Amino acid sequence: MVPHAGSRTQEDPLKAEPSAQQALLDLQDTDSALARLQHRRGSLPELARIEELTAEVAELRGRQVEVETTVSDLTRAQKKADAEVEQVKTRRTRDEERLSSGAITNPKDLENLQHELGALERRISTLEDEELEIMEQLEIAQAELRAVTADHDALVAELTHVTAARDAAVEAIDAEVVSVNEERESVAPGVPADLLALYDKVRHQYGGLGAAALRARRCEGCRLELNGADLREIAAQPEDDVVRCPECSRILVRTAESGL
Ligand SMILES: [Zn+2]
Repeated sequence: MVPHAGSRTQEDPLKAEPSAQQALLDLQDTDSALARLQHRRGSLPELARIEELTAEVAELRGRQVEVETTVSDLTRAQKKADAEVEQVKTRRTRDEERLSSGAITNPKDLENLQHELGALERRISTLEDEELEIMEQLEIAQAELRAVTADHDALVAELTHVTAARDAAVEAIDAEVVSVNEERESVAPGVPADLLALYDKVRHQYGGLGAAALRARRCEGCRLELNGADLREIAAQPEDDVVRCPECSRILVRTAESGL
């Protein structure tokens, strides 16, 4: 029996037929593919864009509500100003009618009436100026509301579009996941339970990669080239020994291209 390297913790290495070890590599391939798909699903560019757009839409909606309130306040103010102008004009008409009717003959009363008409005239002019100013503000607010609404609607349309693109991308990834899972299910029965348990343990310890091939003297898990002594030791082990990489401790599967 060849003495084991110090890096290996198990006294007696796990045994598995080369075909079972090859099946483990296939299983690792499907697990790596699943991890890549999972990562791709979580880092779709659409996800970041959706987040941005959702924030922008909410901001514009807030602005839209503000401007809607301004428009509604100014509309009410304009109606009120208009009613006031009409009220004073009605009074002026009534005074003018009284004046032209000839019913008022007393000079003092006539003078008072003419004074009042002058005051009403000035009041109408002031109220009309005020109403005009409100109407100008209202036009500005209405224009802003149209602009904000157009921006908001454009962003909502883009959000709908990007969301549909995300859904399509997720659907495509999910379809791939289903197909890789099918492949995994066809491979898994070829891996004995004890080897699978070791693989699961190592895989969780080493970021998802538990088993790697030894190709051209290099561990494909850590990418390091093994030194001559380690290679000689591995070459001397029975082919059904489950070997661990002396550098990264991953399960190292010997292949025809191992360079041993
Ligand atoms: Zn390694």
